[in-house]
Order: sequence, then structure tokens, then C-alpha cells
Amino acid sequence: MRILKLSLLLAILCVSCQKEAIVFVENGISIENVTILTPKNGKYSSVKGNIIIENDKIISISENQKTIKGSFKTIDGSSKYIIPGLIDSHVHLASIAGMNWKHIQKYPEFSEAYFNQLPKSYLYYGYTTLIDVNNYNPKIINSLLEKEIRPDIFTCGEQVVIDHDLMMNEYEDDKRFDAYPNFLHDEYNENSRLDDSMDVNEHTPKAIVSRIVEENGGICIKTLYEDGFGGTEDLTWELPSKNIIKDVVAEAHSQNIPVLLHANGYEAQKFGMETGVDILAHGMWHWGNLQEYLNISELPQTHRELLIEIAKQKIGYQPTIRVVGGQKDVFDSSFLNNKNLPHVLPRELLNWLNTEEGHWQEQNIKKYAKGFVDGLSNEEIMVLMQKVVDKVEIVTKELADNDANLIFGTDTPAANTHTMPPGLNGYIEMQKWSQIGVSLEQILMAATMNNAKAFNLESKYGSIDINKIANLILLDKNPLEAIEAYNTIDKIIIRGQLIDRKNLSATYR
Ligand SMILES: [Zn+2]
Repeated sequence: MRILKLSLLLAILCVSCQKEAIVFVENGISIENVTILTPKNGKYSSVKGNIIIENDKIISISENQKTIKGSFKTIDGSSKYIIPGLIDSHVHLASIAGMNWKHIQKYPEFSEAYFNQLPKSYLYYGYTTLIDVNNYNPKIINSLLEKEIRPDIFTCGEQVVIDHDLMMNEYEDDKRFDAYPNFLHDEYNENSRLDDSMDVNEHTPKAIVSRIVEENGGICIKTLYEDGFGGTEDLTWELPSKNIIKDVVAEAHSQNIPVLLHANGYEAQKFGMETGVDILAHGMWHWGNLQEYLNISELPQTHRELLIEIAKQKIGYQPTIRVVGGQKDVFDSSFLNNKNLPHVLPRELLNWLNTEEGHWQEQNIKKYAKGFVDGLSNEEIMVLMQKVVDKVEIVTKELADNDANLIFGTDTPAANTHTMPPGLNGYIEMQKWSQIGVSLEQILMAATMNNAKAFNLESKYGSIDINKIANLILLDKNPLEAIEAYNTIDKIIIRGQLIDRKNLSATYR
């Protein structure tokens, strides 16, 4: 009899719990009747449902609405779409879009305004997780981490510099080791030179990778293969040997972190594939010698085969179309009139960029690309640069068609150009991908799950799932239907904190 009563009671309880489960939350958010877009088994799925957040975690996702008790805010999502927070896995947070170090010293007030706005600008365009691949200025990153409103920030620690490579080569012979005390010694390169006073054991792959993980808190390793900017410069520096990069990869994998290789040319990406790196940190805009291929618009067969292999092996690939595109835009005087720019750059910096001194980047690129742009008008320079942009666009389309592991990274702000402003540059990069025929699903996947997986962050980020961090974007339009949806963000939820997009704008007072 007692058992019968108990089971009857349980049955009644169970029926009521199925009908209206009660969820108790403290400091929560209930998003009701919203279209949820999230990856499931490698595809984006779309379902009408309800999400409950408590503190900084997602605690419930259900098709039927649950009864909630406790302290929480309610959002009516019936006309909205919700996606996982976006990840930009290639940023340089310590560099200013629009100023070099000399300007920073001259106008510290612009620099201060820029860094105050920087984290909000990324959030304004939905970027809730950032990976700084070369944290050469930990002081700046630490000051950003102290800000209350900011994306989640990870780094690859300090970029791995290999003795007498391009980076070290920028210093006089006797100053190189002082400039990069944590360089990696390439024991397989006979041109490698160490001072007698140096302890070789401090410059091995094991020592360098351990230092990045333990002292820098890095979640990835970034190194570099640069063989001369499409032949625009004579190679006066050393390239890493295949064996040393293979050793770095083996060491990084033993510590469960990925290796990124700066590689923007055919030879460099071939090198990256052969050495087993996990992520190629640029698109292939150099197909060989710049002079020879500039007017070629068909992908050479060798290049196509390499790209197909990169796609097949699911090597992470960051096209970073904006790196050359942004340099081209420096010569486009209308860029400063972009109506989205005042949301991401502070007014005082924008005003200065409109002065003659603020146009320093044009001179800089003309100096850098001497021999190619001499005597050309700004319009002619833009035409020339577009030919290089075309290359990376063709490559990106080829990879997308072959279902490559595209991962979204912008390299913001490469070369300190104002044309790669934080947050907005990501939106422009996405628009480029869309224009050349990368599908909207591939774009969203690249900026969410593909990035999370590539950096071993999928237990926290990349999809809308229970127990993941509540970094979510609420939009008025569906980003699987139109790329412009990314500029219709209504609200941003960062670590469970709800923010109206307009409050993140640089124009907001
Ligand atoms: Zn970079």
C-alpha cells in the first residue's frame, strides 16, 4: 500500500514537472520565444525556443517555456534571432588603428580614448571572444582585462621569433638578442649563430613553448614564415628550417595547444602544410613573384592542388582579406566618411585622421611599396592593390568550395591602419567573404564553432549549449539570410551581462 501511494505521488509529481518545470535562478536572464541559431553536428540549426542564463552560464535551453522563479530579467525574443558570441582569432590589441608609436607619444589623449573604446567596439559588432596572436605588450592587455565591459581575451603569448629571422633582422647584429631575448634557436640551420655566453637549453622548442604556456598564459603558439613579400624585398634574413617548426609543433601538441604560422604566400603555406602547423594565419595573396603573377587571375594548378590538400587536412585557415584590402582603402578618401566609423573610433581620433598629419599611412605605404607605386595616383594605386586582393579572394573561394576549415580572424589593425578599425573591420571582412561567394553558414561557422575548436575552446564557446559561457548576440535579422544582419545587433550578452548595443558606441555619452 505504501509503495503504491509513493509511486502514485511520484507519477503525479512527474506529470507536473513535465508540464511546468520550475527553474530557480539568481541573477538570471530569460530569453523567450527566440529563434536560436546554433551549430549541431557541423551544421547550423534553427529552432524557436527559450534560453535561461544564470550568472555567466547558459543553464537551460528548451522548446517549451519553463516557469522561472528568483531574480531575473525577461527578454521577449519573438521577433529576434540569437547566435553564439563571435570569435575573432587574429587581433593585435596593443596596436592602434590609425596611429603609430610616434603619434601615441605626441597625442597620448587620443591613445587613451582609443583604448577606452576598444573593447566596446569589438562588442558593438558582436565579437565576444578575441585571440591576440602576438602579445608583445602585456601591460596593455592586462589593462584591457581590468575593464568591466570587454570581450573575453586570450593570447598566444609573445610571437616565437627564430634566430636571425625577419623580426630579428630589423635590428643591428649586436642588438638582436637584446631585442628578442626569448628567441628560438634553429639547430638545423647552419647559418644560425649564438653568442658563447648563451645557454642553448633556454632557446629550445621545449623551453620556448613552456614559457609561453606557463609565464604568458598562452593558449596557442604563433610563429612566422615570410619569404620576401612577393619578391619585393631581397631575402636578407633566415627562414626557419622545416625540422625546427616540426619540433615546435610536436612540443605544442604535447601541451595540447595549436601552432599558427604567419604565411601569406604559396611557398609559405606549402611549408606550413608540410611541417604540420594547425593554422595558417593569412590568406595566400602572394602567388609567387609579384611582378610575374600580378595580371594573372586564374589560380595556377600547383596552387589549387595545395589548397585542396589544406582543405582536405582541415588545417585552420584565416583568409584575412582585409590586410591588403585595408591598405588599399588607405588611398580611398571616402573611407573616413563610412557612417559606421564613429561607432568604433573616438571622435578626437577621427578628427585627427582627417588632418594632413593623420594621412601618414599613405606616405608609409608609398615608401614601403616603392618601385611599385612610384608616380601613380591614389586611384591607380588602388587598382594595383585590388589585383593583390583579387588573389586572396580567389583563394578563399577555392577553399570555401572545398569545404576547408575556414576560421575567422581579421589581423586588426595590421600596419596600424585606420581602415581596419576594431569590430567594424570584422564586419567588413565578413561582407567580403559573402561577396565572393562564401556561404552565410560557412561565415557564421568560421566565426563561432570552427574558431572555438581550433583553439580548444569549445567547452566554453562556439555554440549555444548548456554550461557554456553566456556570450550571446541578439539580432533583428537572420545572419543565415543576409550578411547585413551582423549590423542589426540589438543586444549583446557578455558573461551573462546584458548590454544594449547603442550603449557600446563611441558616440554614446
Ligand atoms: Zn597578425
